[in-house]
Order: sequence, then structure tokens, then C-alpha cells
Amino acid sequence: MKKHNFSAGPAILPQEVLQQAAEAVQELDGSGLSLIEISHRSKAFVEIMEEACALALELSGLQNTNYKALFLQGGASSQFLMAAYNLMETRAGYINTGSWSDKAIKEAKLFGEVVEMASSKSANFNYIPKELNAIGDLDYIHLTTNNTIFGTQFHNIPVLSPPLVADMSSDLFSRPLDYSRFGLFYAGAQKNLGPAGTTLIIVDINLLGKVTRSVPSMMDYSLQIAKDSMFNTPPVFPIYTSLLNMRWIVKQGGLEAVGKANAAKAKLLYDEIDRNAAFEGFAAVEDRSMMNATFNLTDEDTAASFDALWNAAGISGLKGHRSVGGYRASMYNALPIESVELLVEVMKEFERTK
Ligand SMILES: *Cc1c(COP(=O)(O)O)cnc(C)c1O
Repeated sequence: MKKHNFSAGPAILPQEVLQQAAEAVQELDGSGLSLIEISHRSKAFVEIMEEACALALELSGLQNTNYKALFLQGGASSQFLMAAYNLMETRAGYINTGSWSDKAIKEAKLFGEVVEMASSKSANFNYIPKELNAIGDLDYIHLTTNNTIFGTQFHNIPVLSPPLVADMSSDLFSRPLDYSRFGLFYAGAQKNLGPAGTTLIIVDINLLGKVTRSVPSMMDYSLQIAKDSMFNTPPVFPIYTSLLNMRWIVKQGGLEAVGKANAAKAKLLYDEIDRNAAFEGFAAVEDRSMMNATFNLTDEDTAASFDALWNAAGISGLKGHRSVGGYRASMYNALPIESVELLVEVMKEFERTK
């Protein structure tokens, strides 16, 4: 029986996308060949790459602009350094809202001065700082739109004049957003876009070519753009599956529709967390993530019986990250509201029987 998959990542994909991806591994569109045994320079794959890039730009509302889309490897973690490599001449600002921002900061320090404009570290990152230290002359400002581990999310993107660079790994294409506010944004595919193995990067080309250092080929956005993400062999399977998933998003009605569905799922779960005395939310209420809901038991000694209940109900992936403890329910686009309804049922049953 298919489980209710609340995993934080790699994470749930729509059933029909899995089906289509599995078919393409056997045979791509009646070609007599598998997706993963054809040349990446074949017409069939070049078309897949073109459609994937075009659709990514379209979902971002950035088609026919100065923005380009890339599907590269190395995960979001490589973007921590690649963004700085290509954009930081002397100094950049970073907003520290969790371990992923922390890691981005560590990499950026290899390239110049990092100004930490705000941090919620002293509160174990349970909120999004609103006050930022104003500093002039920043090449860009980096933020993490959704904090997968702590369950916080920027609901208002700060208005700042240097270009914004954003790690959107866990909330890309989950809600309508003015993506033109960002000069560069990136997402490891395995949260809300596709399987692990590729990273989507969307960048305003006007920001490129300004640093004086030389950038190695694989790390060079301009070169990767010139080569249409094919400077080296691209990861064909995750790119194709991401394309299938983006087609699925369009079929749902686009970001407006998935955003509405995600808001409904999040409301259902957070309402129960707030109502049910057996649970308490981890993140500050106004900064709660619509993608990753973090919560704890009010009585940790009852964990074994709650764990037994949700496991028996066919729920998977609910354990919190080790740095927060407790529970984390990830509710990416593909998670049906029925799964959240079931979790809420289990929480109610736990309240009655614990
Ligand atoms: C998962 C995650 C990452 C790390 O992604 P990799 O593709 O494994 O490098 C970075 N940032 C955020 C916000 C994440 O959720």
C-alpha cells in the first residue's frame, strides 16, 4: 500500500509523474530507446532540456526577460559557492535563518567579506528576523526563503536595493511569488521539483561578468548558459522528471492553484497543532512554513505511543530533523490534502487515547 509521504527530501512526487518517469526509463515516447540510454545531444533530449528551461522561466513569470534557467549538478550546496564565485567582488550580505544559510555563509567567506545582516541563531532559528543591519556597498544579499529544518518561511520578501540571491530549495514553485524581485535563485530539485541530482538556477544575466576573478568552467554561470546547461553531460533523468512535474503544476492551474492547495493543507495542520494540547508548534506563528511544519509533543514521554499510531496509519517521514527534535510534516505540492487529513485524525486519536 502506498504510504502517506511527509518526507522532507528527497520527497513526494505526484503519482502520475512517477508513472511517466518510470515509462520513460523503459522507453521514451515510442522511440525504442530508454531516456537514460540516449545521447544528451540527441534531438529528443535537447527538446526536453529546452522545454524544462522554458517552463521553469514561465512558472517564474520570467519568460522573454533577461533571465536564463540552468539545470546543473552539485545540489543547492554547490550554489552556496557558485553564487559567491560569480557575483561577489568584495562583500555580500547574508540573512542567517538556519543551517542552510549557515552553510551558504561558510562558502561565501572563501570569496570575500560576508556581512551577517541578521540571525535567529540564538533562538535555534525558530523565527525570521525582520530587522536587518543596513550596510552599504553589497554586491548582493542572500537569503533562504524557506527553512526546511526549522519550519520557517519568508512570507514577505524584504525590500532591499542590492540584488537578492535566494536559496529556494524547499519552496520553489509552491506559491505565487514575484520572482523578478530576485537576481538569482536556485533550488536543489529533490524537495519540491523532482528527484535528487539536479539543481535549477534562474539568473538575471545582467548580474554576470562583473567579478574580476577567473571562474573555473564548471562554476561559471555565463559559460553554462552559453552551453545550454550541457557543458558536461547533464543528469538526464532528474531533469526529465522535473519537467514532468512542472507540466503537472501547469495542469493543476499553475502557482496560483498549488499555492491555494498548499495554504489549505498548512492551515489544516497548524489549526490542529494549536487546538490539540498534546502538541506545540516549534516556529513563531507568523513565520510558519507552508511546506515544513515543525512541532513537538508537550509530553516527550508519550513519543513511543504517538510514533506507533502514525506508523500504523501508514504515515512515513514524520520524524523531525536531529537539530530540532520532535516532528516535521513536509507538505510539498504533491502531497494530497487527504494525507494531512489523516495526520490530523491520528493527532486527534492520540489526544483521546494517550
Ligand atoms: C535540502 C536543502 C539544501 C541542500 O540541498 P542539496 O541539493 O542537498 O545540496 C539547501 N538549502 C535548502 C533550503 C534545503 O532545503
